[in-house]
Amino acid sequence: MSHFAKVTRVPGDPILSLMEAYRLDSNPARLDLGVGVYKDAQGLTPIPRAVKLAEQRLIDVEQTKTYIGGHGDAAFGTLLSQLVLGADSALLAEQRAGATQTPGGTGALRLAGDFIRHCLPGRGIWLSDPTWPIHETLFAEAGLKVGHYPYVGADNRLDVEAMIAALTHLPKGDVVLLHACCHNPTGFDLTPRDWKRVLEVVKARELLPLIDFAYQGFGDGLVEDAWAVRLFATELPELLITSSCSKNFGLYRERTGALIVCAGDAEKLVDIRSQLASIARNLWSTPPAHGAAVVAQILGDDELKGLWLDELEGMRLRVASLRRGLVEALAPHGLSERFAHVAEQRGMFSYTGLSPLQVQRLREEFSVYMVGSGRANVAGLDASRLEQLADAIARVCV
Ligand code: PMP
Repeated sequence: MSHFAKVTRVPGDPILSLMEAYRLDSNPARLDLGVGVYKDAQGLTPIPRAVKLAEQRLIDVEQTKTYIGGHGDAAFGTLLSQLVLGADSALLAEQRAGATQTPGGTGALRLAGDFIRHCLPGRGIWLSDPTWPIHETLFAEAGLKVGHYPYVGADNRLDVEAMIAALTHLPKGDVVLLHACCHNPTGFDLTPRDWKRVLEVVKARELLPLIDFAYQGFGDGLVEDAWAVRLFATELPELLITSSCSKNFGLYRERTGALIVCAGDAEKLVDIRSQLASIARNLWSTPPAHGAAVVAQILGDDELKGLWLDELEGMRLRVASLRRGLVEALAPHGLSERFAHVAEQRGMFSYTGLSPLQVQRLREEFSVYMVGSGRANVAGLDASRLEQLADAIARVCV
């Protein structure tokens, strides 16, 4: 008898298949706008110098590889919470907020999902339509009932009115997932005014926000990107925040992130954290140490932090200039207005508004690889290739 006879094959992650197809494409002019990692002008995903220097220091000072605790590296937790909530946050002073280190932002989301199912039974979670596809499967796997609120209209523009209208009808007490900045996959972010409106609905419906903060520093700046998170943390007694160091520290494979919980009082936070450590014990036991130690080294040292801030700003500005550059390159084709949103969007991703058929033609005829939904990773571009891309887009838009 074969125990595995009934195990069938599932399709791979479509974005990873896209990467594979790109790898096999022999066209020297091929363009990879698929997978969501930052790339520099050479098409590489570099290790920031601040990370390299921190790693060198760690090699000298690290004395043991024994487990770190269930909540991870304490210095990392404190410094990351300050980065997210602000060093002067009253929540931190009152010990009403705490970080649990997780394997990346994905781990933080899964820990949040399991916490909701175990400790807040019956609560559903509401995701933007569209959202990062892993949100859909991850929360379903965690056993939560998943629903959606509209985010982008048929005109491929942010539809705040539809979003607010939908949130107004959510069941009281349910969880609403919000992207802090650099919305994945669309690149459309809420304005401060929109955020305040969302906050009012959250209060009125007594919803629990879960804010996914995977791109701090990639939108308008490190502090600017935290604006909505800090607004919600100040205005609401309770909040869940998932933070990822994958993009802003370039630590992708080191799986570095945290779930930050804000609670009504310090006592309650201790209760919640006991649950988180217990849930994490069954998921990954204790988190991986290296990436968090690197982040703690950088954030705890003025010189390394200064270097990192410069490097992060460099990445942010590169993506922003590519966005503007693409719209300019589309102008001679009479398409700058149609694609004006590309320059308004934030972060690495752009919902271009290209149809699945146009995306397919771009791939087959021009070796331009982007996700079927029309999501392009703008960071995958290089200034010298903007005209080439604009030309290809123009050809599939006629
Ligand atoms: N949330 C969003 C919206 C993301 O785009 C990502 C990464 N693609 C993550 C969370 C998780 O990132 P990681 O697990 O690599 O830290």
